[in-house]
Amino acid sequence: MKKTIVLALGGNALGNDLPGQMAAVKTTSVVIADLIAQGYRVVVTHGNGPQVGMITGAFEAASKTEAKSPVLPMSVCVALSQGYIGYDLQNALREELLNRGINKPVATIVTQVEVDAADPSFKNPAKPIGAFYSKEEAEALSRKGFEMREDAGRGYRRVVSSPKPVDIIEKETVKAMLDADQLVITVGGGGIPVIRDGNTLRGANAVIDKDWASAKLAEMIDADMLIILTAVEKIAINFGKPNEQWLDKLTSADAQRYIDEKHFAPGSMLPKVEAALSFSRSKKGRKALITLLNKAKDGIEGKTGTIIGD
Ligand code: ADP
Ligand code: MG
Repeated sequence: MKKTIVLALGGNALGNDLPGQMAAVKTTSVVIADLIAQGYRVVVTHGNGPQVGMITGAFEAASKTEAKSPVLPMSVCVALSQGYIGYDLQNALREELLNRGINKPVATIVTQVEVDAADPSFKNPAKPIGAFYSKEEAEALSRKGFEMREDAGRGYRRVVSSPKPVDIIEKETVKAMLDADQLVITVGGGGIPVIRDGNTLRGANAVIDKDWASAKLAEMIDADMLIILTAVEKIAINFGKPNEQWLDKLTSADAQRYIDEKHFAPGSMLPKVEAALSFSRSKKGRKALITLLNKAKDGIEGKTGTIIGD
């Protein structure tokens, strides 16, 4: 039986602007195609920081001069970013696979991820998004349902919550494509956050961490390994300090201890280690790997990166 890998792409796998992304997806596709050529079943997930920033920024700027131009809810911005990033990735992956004589269909699933309306993060939306607004503009946006907060004397900004994922709505579709030996791109940007209300899924004012969403997906499709590709080859304790120590392997007990001792920065390495730990604890034998994009193959072979699990 082929091993199933969920491969979570970080910011450096996708670039920072349009030409940057066009170039980055080509390099990224080579890495993914190498894994497929080696016989792994791969599901691709990815972040969307710069892209969703560009989308929210463009609509906010337009809305300031065009009365008819809307400020878009975060859920819609994530959906747009999934389409844009998915398009570039599936286009580059198709070409890279065809160049190797691998005839594998590649497609992106616009993916909704359920979050809990009672998630504590909704009590205090803490993540600021996009442009600054005057008090009057902020009040007008507030009446339209956006959450607005004063930001350190600089003006008002939209804020969103960061709830944990509880379900992947399109998981059966991901599984069906995987079982049909197709390459799937899913939960882009952590997925479109939705709250369940009977048969209705309502877009939530939130962003879901892509590492957490990837771990949830890996759990739900019974993946063997979660690989988080990022800007460092390994994770470290005492990161950036003179006694910095790079880690090859981390048991779940050690991972928990180092989290408690605050070795991992919130918003960057912490969600990765927490997500890796959560996946590795979800079933015996499950392991997570954190490493650089171009070290993915070596990492799977145990030559580098940090492995989390028992
Ligand atoms: P991505 O786009 O891949 O999610 P992030 O910037 O969010 O990337 O997270 C990766 C970054 O986390 C690294 O570039 C590194 O600077 C930072 N980091 C914080 N704490 C640690 C740590 N303890 N060990 C390694 N890297 C860390
Ligand atoms: Mg990140």
